[in-house]
Amino acid sequence: MNCELCGFSDGTLYRTEIEGAILTVCGECSKNGKVIGEVKKPESTTKQNHQQQQGSMEIELRLDYSNVISKALKDSNISIDELSNRLKESRLTLKKVAEGKITPTDELAGKLEDVLGISLFEKVYTGYSGNADDGHITFADIVQFKDKTKQG
Ligand SMILES: [Zn+2]
Repeated sequence: MNCELCGFSDGTLYRTEIEGAILTVCGECSKNGKVIGEVKKPESTTKQNHQQQQGSMEIELRLDYSNVISKALKDSNISIDELSNRLKESRLTLKKVAEGKITPTDELAGKLEDVLGISLFEKVYTGYSGNADDGHITFADIVQFKDKTKQG
């Protein structure tokens, strides 16, 4: 967009009332009249925001995954050592996951779900305010979900 008076194209333009006409002009030319408001450059993000408003569902690791894991370990009397043997993961990794210090990969979380009989993932709706249902789901659901997404 260019200034309608001098053709200047860089920087902010202003809707300006000059001698009874509303013109879109640069800062320099706007001094000749009464500025009504800034003209924002059209940005492609406007479209993207609009698309997000339709909302989409994503599957994410529960925020309280470490609580769920450590509680399940207690309940099932499985030690980190045993878990480490079963999952073929390092004890340190599992300990840190249970303490919430590191985030498990989807694969590891899936294995933890299997061994401990828990669900570590939840559906998150983006573009809507807040989460929809409190539907906790498992890694298996994610695989299904991803398959469905692929098929369209
Ligand atoms: Zn100008």
